[in-house]
Amino acid sequence: MVVVMQPGAEPQHVDAVVSRVEAAGGQAFVSRGVSRVIIGLVGDIDQLSTLDLAGLPGVGQVTRVSTEYKLVSREQHPDRSVVHVRGVPIGPDTVTLIAGPCAVETPEQTLASALMAQAAGATMLRGGAFKPRTSPYAFQGLGELGLKILAEVREETGLPIVTEVVSAHHVDMVAEYADMLQIGTRNMQNFALLQAIGEVGKPVMLKRGMTATIEEWLMAAEYIAQRGNLEIVLCERGIRTHEPATRNTLDVSAVPVVQRLSHLPVIVDPSHSGGRRDLVLPLSKAGIVVGADGIIVDVHPQPDLALCDGAQALVREDLEQLSRAVADLTVYVGRQPARRRWASAS
Ligand code: PEP
Ligand code: MN
Repeated sequence: MVVVMQPGAEPQHVDAVVSRVEAAGGQAFVSRGVSRVIIGLVGDIDQLSTLDLAGLPGVGQVTRVSTEYKLVSREQHPDRSVVHVRGVPIGPDTVTLIAGPCAVETPEQTLASALMAQAAGATMLRGGAFKPRTSPYAFQGLGELGLKILAEVREETGLPIVTEVVSAHHVDMVAEYADMLQIGTRNMQNFALLQAIGEVGKPVMLKRGMTATIEEWLMAAEYIAQRGNLEIVLCERGIRTHEPATRNTLDVSAVPVVQRLSHLPVIVDPSHSGGRRDLVLPLSKAGIVVGADGIIVDVHPQPDLALCDGAQALVREDLEQLSRAVADLTVYVGRQPARRRWASAS
């Protein structure tokens, strides 16, 4: 069950719900979103249903949710959510283009990538400072230095930054610099990490585990939501199938499927799914047409020299094509480009 409090509900109203549920032997998990408090209830549903929670002061709505994931379920929140990252919307009315290098390598490479991204219409910058690499001998990222470089490039371009966090120990440090925290495919079920990022007040991009089912993915999002953070964007980045022609198979069906099950925004990563530059444009188009709320792509000023994923990075000429396609298809699907709506300090 899920209890949605009224927008102006007082803390004592929330406490009263929690006490009543606990007195009946249930558990109550309080999630504080930007505009509302939601309480997820766990316990004997029949017994919880007798508590008349709807009659308590400050309570807006009490819903029985049939799925295991409750806070991210669309059953309890029929309208699709919009997540704002420093004023840039990601949600059902817009298509947000996020672009940048796979990894932050140098200040020059990061700034050049950001300017390429911005010229193509991107309103957010991506870039990894902590890289979860398959091989321990591969470039692991610049760590905090990379975060500092991203912050400097944000100063210069105004682009909010999304960057990956790979360990629960780094969450506070990454959150100091980033506007949005990314959980990569390899960490989708790192539950300690999910809980830790649920406790910082920054939006999160949760990539789908490469072997995860949609239900497992939504349960991972629920871990974050349960700790009080509902500012979550899901990212379909390809799943492992029998097909070796692409690095992973972009599961385009996941976009509409997830949007029916969950109110969270869903974006697509055509770079990490295809793993090849020539597939980024067609996969981006596919993503937008099936209803993705944005796309996130790798770019690099000199992909041949890239320390990570150069084969999939777009160069300037590719970006012109991508930019045109995104603009045209945004109109086609009846949405707006995602422009920054306000200057925010958060
Ligand atoms: C990335 O976006 O830099 C990345 C490592 O992606 P994924 O976790 O999808 O492989
Ligand atoms: Mn990469």
